[in-house]
Amino acid sequence: MVSPLDILHDTFGFPAFRGVQEDVIGRVMDGCHTLAVMPTGAGKSLCYQVPALAREGTAIVISPLIALMHDQIRSADAFGIRAASLTSADSDADRQQTLQRLKAGELDLLYVAPERASSGHFRELASRIKLSLVAVDEAHCVSEWGHDFRPDYRLLRPLLDSFGNVPRLALTATADRQTRADILVQLGIPEDGLIVAGFDRPNIRYHIRPRDGVSTQLKGLLAEQEGAGIVYVPSRDKAERLAEQLGQNGRRRVLPYHAGLDPQVRVRNQAAFVKSEDMVMVATIAFGMGIDKPDVRFVAHAGLPKSIEAYYQETGRAGRDGDPAEAWLFWGAEDFSRARRRIETEVPDDRRGGERQRLNSLAALVETADCRRAILLHHFGEDPPARCGNCDNCLAPPSTVDGTETARKLLSA
Ligand code: ADP
Ligand code: MG
Repeated sequence: MVSPLDILHDTFGFPAFRGVQEDVIGRVMDGCHTLAVMPTGAGKSLCYQVPALAREGTAIVISPLIALMHDQIRSADAFGIRAASLTSADSDADRQQTLQRLKAGELDLLYVAPERASSGHFRELASRIKLSLVAVDEAHCVSEWGHDFRPDYRLLRPLLDSFGNVPRLALTATADRQTRADILVQLGIPEDGLIVAGFDRPNIRYHIRPRDGVSTQLKGLLAEQEGAGIVYVPSRDKAERLAEQLGQNGRRRVLPYHAGLDPQVRVRNQAAFVKSEDMVMVATIAFGMGIDKPDVRFVAHAGLPKSIEAYYQETGRAGRDGDPAEAWLFWGAEDFSRARRRIETEVPDDRRGGERQRLNSLAALVETADCRRAILLHHFGEDPPARCGNCDNCLAPPSTVDGTETARKLLSA
């Protein structure tokens, strides 16, 4: 079976999952009913598209508006995902074709309006095909507490129940506590199936500074920092070497992790890390996805991450328990020049613009003399306050001279 991460990379061309996407998709892959509350633009569609491709069968997506369905189908088409809809706006010929593809197992996604989905006729049709999941988009419509109640959503329950073990995924951007509770009850999702995103991770303190003898910088960090941590490095080779160097004083255990290690060693190192209270894992980005350790106290990057999304994802592994945690990034001007060279020489024409933009966003994050969190949250479409009070720049505003210095270094890279 193809993994969700492979689908993210190969089908969508995205470097990393954002925010809670990884958790939501993990639950759907495990067959669990889930309600995901994620801000607009957080990437809710991906949460059902990826498992629809990773699991066998067709995903049924309940969506309230024909225009919305058509948008979704267009964007699915662009990624090469096989999607169609059954709506009152279809011609007879279109409907016949869609039904044929559906029965032949040639659809990844089938969009249906709630009034059609709740009909006995549709239930009968659905009972004859293999289903990967059923997604209920704009799920706040099911609740009278919600701002957009749609009585037809209330009629979905018998259909959902007729699917038995097929995982249900309800999605909404706008649901207060009462609405969430109501959605859970109405759609038969257990209370522990609720996942709420908001991009801010207020307990994480961000520090970003130029690299200057990174093993010395990291030794200093490890000497001061309590608790378990992850140090991300750009290569397998560096993971081995740094783990060795950092482990030398023996105060705490330091182990490497990368995809080139013997699988048994990898499993052992990961298990040791999950159990430990003060171990440090020096790892490539192969480490992290699906690792359930809420008390990681710090994440350090010894080099530039791939993108802001990757940075957010990787630093987001710190402090999942809500206690204070730190994110450190040590970057060098040469990281940028290397990345630029790669973009200009190795990246295909059609992806070059996007990659340049990705790199520029990272440059904006590392060079800013303003709030780091504001830049991160703004990147994810949130409207943060100007200063968070919990990043290096807010805690100790750099002098203008420093800011200019950094900018100059960057531009000349
Ligand atoms: P929502 O339904 O929450 O408003 P969408 O599913 O429309 O969000 O996604 C918003 C945008 O974010 C889309 O352009 C989508 O392709 C993009 N996106 C989603 N997930 C990712 C990701 N992991 N990395 C990069 N872009 C993403
Ligand atoms: Mg959406």
